[in-house]
This record gives sequence, structure tokens and C-alpha cells, in this order.
Amino acid sequence: MRAVLADLSVPRYLLTAATKGRAPFGLLSLRDDLPAPALPKAPGWVLLRTELGGICGSDLAVARAKNSPVLSAFYTARKQILGHEIVAVVDWTGPGVTAVQAGDRVVVDPVLPCAHRGFEPCRSCREGHPNVCERGQNPAQGFDAALGGGWGELIAAHESQLHRVGVMAAARAVLAEPASIGLHATLRWERRGDRAVVIGPGTIGLLTTAALRRLHPDLDITVVGPGRFKAENVGATRTMASGPEVVEKLAEIHGGRVIRPRVAGTPILEQGVDVVFDCVAQPDTIDLALHLLRPTGMLVLVGGAGRQRVDWSLVWNRQLTVQGTINSGPEPALGGRSAMSQVVQWLGDPAYPADGLVTHEFPLSRWRAALSTAAAGPRAGAVKVALRPL
Ligand SMILES: [Zn+2]
Repeated sequence: MRAVLADLSVPRYLLTAATKGRAPFGLLSLRDDLPAPALPKAPGWVLLRTELGGICGSDLAVARAKNSPVLSAFYTARKQILGHEIVAVVDWTGPGVTAVQAGDRVVVDPVLPCAHRGFEPCRSCREGHPNVCERGQNPAQGFDAALGGGWGELIAAHESQLHRVGVMAAARAVLAEPASIGLHATLRWERRGDRAVVIGPGTIGLLTTAALRRLHPDLDITVVGPGRFKAENVGATRTMASGPEVVEKLAEIHGGRVIRPRVAGTPILEQGVDVVFDCVAQPDTIDLALHLLRPTGMLVLVGGAGRQRVDWSLVWNRQLTVQGTINSGPEPALGGRSAMSQVVQWLGDPAYPADGLVTHEFPLSRWRAALSTAAAGPRAGAVKVALRPL
């Protein structure tokens, strides 16, 4: 089968040459000779034929070897077919499959917890957090060549990972996975207060905003950062450019003093906002988030933070909570339903504002152009870029 294969077995001393300069995606290559994924022996597995596979910021980080070394403990497969935002058609069903049949169009929840791999459930899985399964080394679709991923023609998946999407447009369905990430992130915050900030209006930031708006029709949501897509269309109350001046602007809008440190640096919003969702998680956005929060407020780290220099003084001094979030799973706030099933329902509603988020589609043969466009983001007018097999 055809797929873009990431070969991560490159020795470390060659990594820089393989990921910089004129060949920034040197770890990847398009292959036509890969074996179709073999279904695991456990019951309930199906073979999928890819319709559309999204490009996530985390994929670009893998492709450019930019992840923190600590993550190599979890993403252990040396050969990976990337792409965990997947729309596909069920091609073939293995033994014991009852939830789907050949021909069904589906999206994939790429979390593959203990039960599906034939393990006794770990404590995370038992306690309802399969998205942070303790067997973190479980490979999943999009991080493993053996199972396949959205940047290839065929994928193996367990039926419990699948959500049927009927005739939903592929450009909406491919947003199910990032939308579930956004919904799961918003549910890390138990609402206390009326003012939220979302930093980074890329796909995840926009879908986090859309989820916040669905859950809290009256919430004041400021979206901060560069983007071609109007965040007001997905529910933002207002948008503004990123930078320390966000503190002054919010003080003007909502009242409250601006506290200026005696030395240079970002001013502090005295009567700050209740929660910040940082969908970028770079040192400057984390710094801004901490300066915007009121005492006892919450910073939800949605973006993939790494090893970075940040002044954490305000975390203890204002008793802030820093909350991480990854993947999605069953949500007590949704009566135990999964975030994925909720967003599939939302995406099926024409009033849910997801049209136009997929700005570019490329065939697999043009994977380099696709990745360059995704990496350029707002500079290329791109929000979500996706790959299709042909
Ligand atoms: Zn587990």
C-alpha cells in the first residue's frame, strides 16, 4: 500500500541534517511497497480504507524531530505512519465485529487503551481515563507503521475506536479528533467565573472556542493570536493580536488595574480572567497566560509544551492551577459519553461552525507541499491541511 513513512531510527547525530534547511522533512518518504496492516488476533478489529487524514501540529513535531526527548518513552515505534485525524471507510471486518460493517464511513478515536490490546486494564483505564493509559507505550493509529495512519491508504482499528459519520462531508468529519481534544480540554475546567481566554487560533484553538461556546452560551471568550479564520465565527466574543498589550486591552474592556512590575516584563491583570486555554504553549504564551489569570484561576495547557524557560512565580503567588490535557475519553460531565461521540453529533449539525476550517487538501503524492503549508500556518492562509490517498 501507499503511505508516507516516518523513519525515526535515524541516529541522533544525523537528525539535524534530516530535519533542517532545504529538506526539513528528511525523516519522511512516500512509499508504495508497504504491507497492509495486519489485524491483531484479538476480536473486534477492522481494516479501514482512508478517505482523508489531517495534519496535526504534533505530526509536524515528530516529522521535524522537535519533541522533547522525554516523549520518546511513549512513542516508541521506529517506523511510523503518521496521521491520527482520520476519516475512512470500513473495508473488511475481522472476527467478533458487531458495531460496524463494510462500507460504513467512520472517524477514529486514536486512543488505544489496555482492553483493546488484550491487557488487563491499568489503573488509568479502570478509573475512566483511557486517554492517559499507563501503558503509554501502546502504539496507536498515526504513531505506528504496523497499524497504519491517516497518511496511508489502509489502517487497522478496533471497532470501539470508531464513530460512524454517515454522509457527513469529509472536511467536517476530519475535524472530529481535534474537536474532541478541544472539548476534553474545556471540560478540564469546572466553570467558576465568566471570562475565558483562548491563545492560538489554529484548529485546536478554534475548536476549543467552539466547544466553550456550546457548553457556555454566556461566557466571555477572548481569542488571542494570529489567524486568517475569524474566531468570532466559531463563538469568540472578540479577538486580539498576541503580546503583553492583551493585559491592557482586557483591563480597558472589563475594568481592573494593570499592575506593572518595577523591572521590565509583562504587566499583570489585577482582576484577571478565570481560565486560559493555551493552545500554543510556547514560553511567551505561557507567560502571557500566567499574567492574565486572576488568583486561583486555571491555565489549561492544550498545546504541546516542552522544555522551556518560564517564570512560574505567579503560579504560587496567585495560587494558580496548571492543568495538562491530552487526547479525549469518556467525560463525566457528558454523563459518561465520550467527547468524540459528542463532537460527531455536533459536527452533524449544520449550525455547528466547522465549515472552512479545512483550508487545503493534497493527494499523498504532494505530501511535501502539504506539510510545508501546514507548517506555515497563517502565513500560508492555512488552518487545517489534510491528505487524501489520491
Ligand atoms: Zn491502560
